[in-house]
Amino acid sequence: MSRPYRPSSVSRPWGEVVNNQVTGVPKPALSVEDLAALRELLHEQRSFRREQLRQMTAASRTCVDASRGQWSSSRAEVRVRLAASARMVLADVEAALERMAQGRYGVCHLCRRPIACERLMIVPQARYCSRCQQVREAGR
Ligand SMILES: [Zn+2]
Repeated sequence: MSRPYRPSSVSRPWGEVVNNQVTGVPKPALSVEDLAALRELLHEQRSFRREQLRQMTAASRTCVDASRGQWSSSRAEVRVRLAASARMVLADVEAALERMAQGRYGVCHLCRRPIACERLMIVPQARYCSRCQQVREAGR
């Protein structure tokens, strides 16, 4: 019974208060104004694509009638491809609006970093930051 044993852990209870990093997803670097502008862009894009698809569907109906005649199949193919890409963009735009409603908008799906505002202003429905997008396209 000589020296009183002191546990080496000089634990400081306040040391655990620093837990800023627990929040997970980083907050996108977008201001309220940016988000409002982007939402506007997405809405515009959505109605534009919907209108485009509506016209394409209307056109394809007459195309079916015309196909009894001499409608070139390559032209019909182009139309189908255009409609497919319009539908894809529309789905992306709707997904982006959904993410916005859930407060998850503007974060790269791959690296989880905020997507640059300048990029979003050009491609408001972007899921990936420009770096990850390049990687994806290169991997195709
Ligand atoms: Zn990324």
